[in-house]
Amino acid sequence: MTNFQCQINYQCPMTNWHFGKSSVPMVSKIEPLGIGKLEINLKLVIGYLTLACFLLCCSTAAAEDWKELKGEHFIVYYLDDREFASDVMTRAEQYYNTVASDLGYSRYDSFWQWDKRVKIYIYRTAEEFRKAAGISKEWPVGMARYKEKEIISYKWSAGFVESLLPHEITHLVFRDFVGDKNNIPLWLEEGVAVREEEGRRPGDIELVKKLVREKSYIAIELLTKMDIRNEPNAEAARKFYAEAVSIVNFLMEKYGVSRFTLFCRQLRDGRSIDEAISSVYTGYMGNMGDLEKRWVEYYEGEGVKWEN
Ligand SMILES: [Zn+2]
Repeated sequence: MTNFQCQINYQCPMTNWHFGKSSVPMVSKIEPLGIGKLEINLKLVIGYLTLACFLLCCSTAAAEDWKELKGEHFIVYYLDDREFASDVMTRAEQYYNTVASDLGYSRYDSFWQWDKRVKIYIYRTAEEFRKAAGISKEWPVGMARYKEKEIISYKWSAGFVESLLPHEITHLVFRDFVGDKNNIPLWLEEGVAVREEEGRRPGDIELVKKLVREKSYIAIELLTKMDIRNEPNAEAARKFYAEAVSIVNFLMEKYGVSRFTLFCRQLRDGRSIDEAISSVYTGYMGNMGDLEKRWVEYYEGEGVKWEN
């Protein structure tokens, strides 16, 4: 994603949309999307990338065309490039370990083994992928489905393994942890996913520092209400994702990963975001307004560092 930093807004909104009809072997049925179904979109024409959650509904490849590689936590299905598929498998297994560790989830290992392995489908071309997904738009580059634990895309080189893969694996790991609760702010979910993309965070943090300096950031309360799925403004979308990752980054760096894990657990257990903040960050902040103050202070400060 580093190469896209300056020109692309990266979105992966939750959605209830679904497309097309199933005509294919790889997907068993059509059903409305749950909150964890994700799609990644690349809008080259206006230079921004959009991730959203969609339904996989059909395929152009016959079942017998698919070849598979089986790993400990993933099964990679590919059509023509074993080397690329093998690289995807290697990187996916690496991300599996780093993502769970980064999010503070211990004893996670058994979740994705055997019949619970995540399936990754790699189409040969963008056109083939879009046709398979029944998407008429020109810019989608991938999608994932939480409940089915599937990631679907096509070969787009480094962007696939460095950006799409860690992003979507993080969504799946995160949703494994918090379940399908609807009280999870989208900025939190996207923030953790974007944070795992390779090379992306520094650019987002720099943008947030600039927004904070110029006082042109989106207030966190407003951020929490934003429906990024329908956001037509590319600049607003860019801010949304940059702020999302910076808030997650701030919480982890300033107050520690274990407290952040606890915060997510509170949301998983049905607490509101203000309740979760006040119970986990007692003495530091008590609601979203306080969170915004502390977050702004953090990025106003000189020498803010991040780990990558
Ligand atoms: Zn996403």
